[in-house]
Amino acid sequence: MSDDHRVLLLGPPGAGKGTQSDRLAAEYGLDVITTGDALRNNKQMDISDLGLEYDTPGEYMDRGELVPDAVVNEIVVSALADADGFVLDGYPRNLDQAEYLSEQTALDYVFLLEVPEAELIDRLTGRRVCAACGETFHVDFDPPEEPGVCDVDGGELVQREDDTEETVRERLRVYEDETAPVVDHYRERDVLVEVSGEGTPDDVFDRLVSQIES
Ligand code: ADP
Ligand code: ADP
Repeated sequence: MSDDHRVLLLGPPGAGKGTQSDRLAAEYGLDVITTGDALRNNKQMDISDLGLEYDTPGEYMDRGELVPDAVVNEIVVSALADADGFVLDGYPRNLDQAEYLSEQTALDYVFLLEVPEAELIDRLTGRRVCAACGETFHVDFDPPEEPGVCDVDGGELVQREDDTEETVRERLRVYEDETAPVVDHYRERDVLVEVSGEGTPDDVFDRLVSQIES
């Protein structure tokens, strides 16, 4: 079934946005638009002609900083052009991006996944991703059948370079400084739906679906 829902998932790093985006996309036949994955696939892209502080997206990402808007907006606008219904994960991350997005599309649902900070750190430092297909696991909360091996395609499970404790703390700081105002922006417009991101992924998914179906 596809009702062409346009869903925005907000939440701090580790809140479960990627996990829930995939499930919502499967349930409702939506495209996942995720700037994080798009940027990771282009970490070494030469952006030196933009005259920014660093010459590749990866240099920002490995420091836990935001990649400049000029790069990120471009990714989103071309993904939106190809999508009817979508789940947007990881964008917008600052007020300028939120403004840009509002010029590109309307949204039907804006969800905020809420998870306490200590749990976010545990989730991120234990996150492992398949180097081949990108499937996400967790060493304790969602372990693969065989340690270090992807259940889907047998690929090697690796830790993202920005999932070390030091960089995780920097990303949480950047979230508070730059992305918390985006949350307030949607809250002030009465479109924000706050959903607990605690409990199992199934629990969280059920909460999201019941909001969409209500
Ligand atoms: P998380 O899983 O922590 O939510 P993402 O995979 O969404 O992380 O993002 C990883 C990194 O990619 C960010 O720390 C940032 O450097 C970059 N990034 C992703 N989305 C954006 C965005 N909308 N604006 C700027 N940088 C972004
Ligand atoms: P985000 O995209 O918001 O950064 P992810 O979906 O990648 O978050 O989840 C971060 C880590 O936490 C992953 O290792 C994932 O397996 C795990 N995780 C996701 N949802 C839950 C949950 N409800 N309970 C425990 N761990 C979770």
